[in-house]
Amino acid sequence: MDSSEFRTAAREVVEDITNYYDTIASQPKVLPSVTPGYLRPLLPASAPEDPEPWQDIHADLQSHIVPGITHWQSPSFHAFFPCSSSYPAMLAELYSNAFNGAHFNWICSPAVTELETIVLDWLARLLALPECYLSTAPTRGGGVLHGSASEAILTVMVAARDKFLRNATAHLPVGSDEREEETWRLRSKLVALGSEAAHSSTKKAAQILGVRFTTVSAPAEAGYAMSGSALASVVAALRAKGLEPFYLTATLGTTDTCAIDDFPGIRDALSPDERDRIWVHVDAAYAGSALMLPENAHHTATFAAFHSFNVNPHKWMLTNFDCSALWVRDRAWLVESLSIKPAYLRNEFSEAGLVTDYRDWQIPLGRRFRSLKLWFVLRAYGASGIRAHLRRGIDLGERFADMVRSRDDLFEIITGPRFALVVFACKGPSREESNKVTEAVLEGVNGEGVIYLTPTVLHGTYGIRMCTGSSQTIEEEHVKKAFDILIAATEKVLAEQK
Ligand code: PLP
Repeated sequence: MDSSEFRTAAREVVEDITNYYDTIASQPKVLPSVTPGYLRPLLPASAPEDPEPWQDIHADLQSHIVPGITHWQSPSFHAFFPCSSSYPAMLAELYSNAFNGAHFNWICSPAVTELETIVLDWLARLLALPECYLSTAPTRGGGVLHGSASEAILTVMVAARDKFLRNATAHLPVGSDEREEETWRLRSKLVALGSEAAHSSTKKAAQILGVRFTTVSAPAEAGYAMSGSALASVVAALRAKGLEPFYLTATLGTTDTCAIDDFPGIRDALSPDERDRIWVHVDAAYAGSALMLPENAHHTATFAAFHSFNVNPHKWMLTNFDCSALWVRDRAWLVESLSIKPAYLRNEFSEAGLVTDYRDWQIPLGRRFRSLKLWFVLRAYGASGIRAHLRRGIDLGERFADMVRSRDDLFEIITGPRFALVVFACKGPSREESNKVTEAVLEGVNGEGVIYLTPTVLHGTYGIRMCTGSSQTIEEEHVKKAFDILIAATEKVLAEQK
């Protein structure tokens, strides 16, 4: 494809994309009707030997690929957490794809590195993060963009492990056999912690690192949040067994219910000495965006006592996937753990220590130009536009909860509305019966595919999660449509049971 063909094709693509967004609310379904394996019979068994014209590729996209797309951007998509999207972010992605570099060192594209540092300082301020997380802070904090929260959590867990091992063996001579032996002995004792409601990415990170993983309870009575006292008793029990808790994920907005762990309680449960040994990471992958609202800013008051924080602008901040922001209080913790300097990566700027090389703040070497889309979004919407988007989602969550309450003959709210998430269930004579009906209703609704919702199970209660935070879910009619479909499905299941 030459530049003239590209120009023509790109116009066609932009036309397709804008039509897609202009008509997405009237698409009959969110979920595709295809069955597993649908695509293989439609495509040739091997890649073409000869070039194919754009028209053929475009036609196959429309006929074979689009029918297999789940419409995450539909206003009727209420599953999981949203994956947000906006035109300014799409434009930035076009540029990012055009510049297309691996950007691991400053010299690989100075603007890529410098924009990222600046935009993450902007965002840290908007989210009311304590000063110590800024790149300009005396603590030498700073932010970096990763692709996912899972990657951010794995990265800080690696840094936490190495920080713990460095400190715990600091009394032994550097490079000595004794230090090496003690390091390996301690490695087998390490335990990563997260509440039972923490996202599975914490457990997965522990699995990848080959360390133990233990959960702290998050009972229904405490709103599915982890308390300081529950944490303290788990830490004491592990120490009594000779184990070494070295890392904790605390969550702002758990995946199942958007619970907020008791941050002041967690801070107070760990003495300053223990906070030196146990790295506390705050995972705010989804709900963290809502820290931009002044009424939520108080949640960050304790964060200066913790070590790191992440939020995914790709979930609720109008920034297209992938964009996961991670901040640390001291960037040296990442660099000491992740910096490796083979000759081919050396250059005068890095050697002089004048620049940030983000390759030392992440697991992969190469990196995308993600800050461009965040910069475009922050400028095109302004903080006020993003706040309006967040408030709209929260307001629709409240309206949906009112609808659920208005039919308390059929439904009950299990948690929320909190951060545009309501968890509810169908009523029944017993929990077992209610679980059966709720599950059948969800199966029926998703089977039709006009809206899409996902479930959770909370200590034996089967609930349906209704999330109203997606970019296109903006009118009351969008949640009313979901509610009407849920009533019809529930009445059908109840009638079938009679
Ligand atoms: N943390 C929380 C609280 C989440 O809800 C999720 C996903 O929904 C994740 C982490 C994982 O996010 P990612 O897909 O970016 O790894």
